[in-house]
Amino acid sequence: MKRILVTGGSGFLGSWLCEKLLEKGNEVICVDNFYTGAKRNIYHLLDNSRFELIRHDVTFPLYIECDEIYNLACPASPIHYQKDPVQTVKTCVHGAINMLGLAKRVNAKILQASTSEVYGDPAIHPQVEEYWGNVNPIGVRSCYDEGKRCAETLFNCYHMQNKTRIKIIRIFNTYGPRMHPHDGRVVSNFILQALQNQDITIYGDGSQTRSFCYRDDLIDGMMKLMATGDDVTGPVNVGNPGEFTILQLAENVIDLTGSKSKIIRMPLPSDDPKQRKPDISKAQALLNWQPTTQLREGLAKTIEYFDALLKSDPDFCRGED
Ligand code: NAD
Ligand code: UDP
Ligand code: UDP
Repeated sequence: MKRILVTGGSGFLGSWLCEKLLEKGNEVICVDNFYTGAKRNIYHLLDNSRFELIRHDVTFPLYIECDEIYNLACPASPIHYQKDPVQTVKTCVHGAINMLGLAKRVNAKILQASTSEVYGDPAIHPQVEEYWGNVNPIGVRSCYDEGKRCAETLFNCYHMQNKTRIKIIRIFNTYGPRMHPHDGRVVSNFILQALQNQDITIYGDGSQTRSFCYRDDLIDGMMKLMATGDDVTGPVNVGNPGEFTILQLAENVIDLTGSKSKIIRMPLPSDDPKQRKPDISKAQALLNWQPTTQLREGLAKTIEYFDALLKSDPDFCRGED
């Protein structure tokens, strides 16, 4: 049994990770300031004697003892990370420094939840880990993109300077049950709109692409990366290489929900990446990992979740909770 710290543990991915780590018999310490996370995501874990919750902001130091750290704390959706860009940079940078300082002190393995956003609007397709990216340092997305890039730098510096045992995972768009209904990400937006027969809001002409990974596949890849030996530091891309235009995503959601929704166009936000698809050769070779859930299968499960949520807690779906 290990004692494992999960920062951002009450969020969409963090709560699922906490659950999986507990299932494997570990002790889990969830640290979260509830900026975008929800207590409802972890309520069901609170009775477990191996689970501990600490309300804490990772931009401040934290002194605890643990064997492994998954550093997921950071708002992930554009509307959330752009609401308070300074706090987003602080979370990425000060949060990484504090968690690396902690890992160094207790000699814990530490995994950084990085992102495909480090590639920016990529000129290389599909994206390989060796690509340095094409990021606007002063655009609306830069607090997140550059924050995450700096966090990768810090992880690498601690590894070189202090031999800290690091792992960097570059996560591509991931979706599934427990996404926050109001975080504005494309999958949750389209599903909620379709289930309520509201207009489906495509930003731009819908020809931009994304590769969507189902939550369970992603967490499986993340845990496999943590389990590797100290020589594997990453970065490693983890995502589903199936590439879809946003228009194709909308059509799939309408089809699977049987919705009467119409598609409407809205302005494309600035610096919105035109294409994104992971090259996962490294993950396949190093982790023996590849995604197993295809888009329509994952969408069906996510639709089922939001359909139940709309019925059981309409206030939360409307953003009144
Ligand atoms: P999320 O917003 O649901 O979860 C983030 C969690 O971090 C929330 O619980 C939030 O309250 C917490 N948090 C934010 N700032 C904090 C702070 N200063 N101190 C403590 N806790 C803080 O997002 P998610 O989709 O679960 O993303 C988890 C991680 O994975 C993030 O680091 C994100 O950048 C990364 N990631 C996610 C995706 C994706 O598609 N979901 C893609 C790439 C990277
Ligand atoms: N830190 C922390 N928990 C620990 C150890 C360190 O939060 O258990 C923080 C500490 O406050 C410091 C940061 O991590 O600001 C970086 O620590 P490090 O030891 O690398 O640097 P230094 O203390 O020399 O600044
Ligand atoms: N998008 C859209 N309609 C929405 C929300 C998002 O067309 O209601 C588009 C957005 O412009 C982007 C893509 O869908 O091109 C993915 O957006 P998301 O915010 O989910 O993730 P990211 O842009 O960070 O990959």
